[in-house]
Amino acid sequence: MTQEYDVVIIGAGPAGMTAATYASRANLSVLMIDKGIYGGQMNNTAEVENYPGFDSILGPDLAEKMYASSTQFGAEYTFAEVQDVIDQGKTKKIITDSGDYQAKVVVIASGAEHRHLNIPGEDGYSGRGVSYCAVCDGAFFKDEQVTVIGGGDSALEEGLYLANLAKEVTIVHRRNKLKASQIFQKRAAAADNVHFLWNKDTQEVIGDKEKVTAIKLRDNVNGEVSIYPTSGLFIYVGIYPNTKGLENLGILDDKGWVLTDENMQTAIPGIYAIGDVRKDSIRQIASATGDGAVAGKLLFDYIQSLSDQSVKA
Ligand code: NAP
Repeated sequence: MTQEYDVVIIGAGPAGMTAATYASRANLSVLMIDKGIYGGQMNNTAEVENYPGFDSILGPDLAEKMYASSTQFGAEYTFAEVQDVIDQGKTKKIITDSGDYQAKVVVIASGAEHRHLNIPGEDGYSGRGVSYCAVCDGAFFKDEQVTVIGGGDSALEEGLYLANLAKEVTIVHRRNKLKASQIFQKRAAAADNVHFLWNKDTQEVIGDKEKVTAIKLRDNVNGEVSIYPTSGLFIYVGIYPNTKGLENLGILDDKGWVLTDENMQTAIPGIYAIGDVRKDSIRQIASATGDGAVAGKLLFDYIQSLSDQSVKA
């Protein structure tokens, strides 16, 4: 049986939860569908210091607070993986691995996931020294040496989080200039137990029968190959969009990010995209909630326009 809602939101991160708050507060029936726990990447974020209203808050705590406000006006949430979205004009069909839904509006808020390096040993040692989540796995490396790969905000922010737990954190970057924000660069430079290795490509994860023991690095300036001993490897080399199942809509760019205008509207009337999944997003929690507010407000006008059309017809 196909369940019907005014609005189906794909993804329950900060963007999706904000859109759900706005739409349900406008008395629309709203369903958030997520293949994981609500909160999205906030669940993998240690401290959030740049979300208004909080000097500092743990990512999972902020997720709980947003979930409570997003469901207070009746919005629902379900676990499912979206397999296809079909535009039928005034309605959209959402096909998932646990049932089909119909909605007047679809809001794509499915976010992004951490990229893998795709090097030998990475998959084999995943969960045995290789991690993509410092908040989840950092405590396993108390007083040990760990390595972080990457030079962006995630690598430095999570590297600094790990520096509070581990004895020493080495950040390996493929260039000699960081991409991360100045505030993280300054903090990392000031931390006694954070060190950098520059111009190094990570070629292989090495370990014994149980866990990671080292990584193989290649200096991309002089070609020198070295084995760097480490107990843990945290990989933060960027993100890719979560847009599996949305390919048939024709609203993605060549890398899979969703194209929208400044009103979060895609090329298909009644389909919006918000947050990290959007091509032009600056990928902050605050901007995701801003996107959610825009879509959550404007989709009400769109639904009104559908009923105006039916009255005239
Ligand atoms: P990112 O900004 O895309 O940075 C990825 C880093 O990984 C870059 O330094 C890149 O090197 C490096 N890299 C990419 N592929 C690699 C490979 N194959 N081998 C080695 N290194 C590789 O990704 P991110 O740090 O995950 O951040 C994603 C977005 O979220 C950004 O917009 C960021 O600002 C935002 N974010 C914000 C906060 C915050 O404000 N608190 C926290 C986290 C993330 P190059 O520099 O050479 O390209």
